[in-house]
Amino acid sequence: MKTKQFVIIGLGRFGSSLARELIELGYEVLGVDKDEEVVQEMSHVLTHAVVAESTDEEVLRSLGVRNFDTGVVAIGDDIQASILTTILLTDLGVKHVVAKAMTELHGRVLEKIGVHRVVYPERDMGIRVAHQLVSPNLLDYIELSKEYTIAELSVPKCLSGKSLQELNPRAKYGCSIVAINKPSGIIIAPAATDELQEKDVMVVIGTNDQIEEFERSVT
Ligand code: ADP
Repeated sequence: MKTKQFVIIGLGRFGSSLARELIELGYEVLGVDKDEEVVQEMSHVLTHAVVAESTDEEVLRSLGVRNFDTGVVAIGDDIQASILTTILLTDLGVKHVVAKAMTELHGRVLEKIGVHRVVYPERDMGIRVAHQLVSPNLLDYIELSKEYTIAELSVPKCLSGKSLQELNPRAKYGCSIVAINKPSGIIIAPAATDELQEKDVMVVIGTNDQIEEFERSVT
């Protein structure tokens, strides 16, 4: 199968981190930035890195951006360049365009011009870190909706050796443990007799309130 290809425009902090991770995951990445120094720094990491002005339609056309599966506009500060580049990528026929927004208004404009996904890295990371700061066992979470969340919680010492039956979070708090990640491997849909150990990570699904209450009871 053909490897998925990404073009990332803007190799600042967000763009370069995204590009590095995609390479790490085994994908092909073309990085574009108008700053020669930035491109130089990334050239040994990426599949291709090019110095170019992304608001120039001819330049983007000659780079063959329309052949890429996904284009990411990772220009934040220069909102005009972000918007123009985004319009060009969508007009040139990039199938999936993702763009970074600095503010809600910037994001709304990007949505109006046809971006498939707008990301707010600074805002989202702020929210994520706030959740982790108030919940010491929370490693990561996915919001399924406004109300429902899947959370990864590290197992505290006080739960070590306890079975799910003893813990019974579904009866006590309404949330369920859907997986236990142990150093020896992950147990999906664990049985009531499965036991938690201190180094394990439990994956919990429920409403935000249920998970919060469960978490509070074990910290
Ligand atoms: P971050 O906060 O993620 O570092 P920045 O907005 O500061 O994001 O950086 C965006 C990057 O995009 C910079 O490296 C900058 O040189 C590049 N950039 C900005 N405008 C253009 C443009 N018109 N064409 C190509 N690259 C651009």
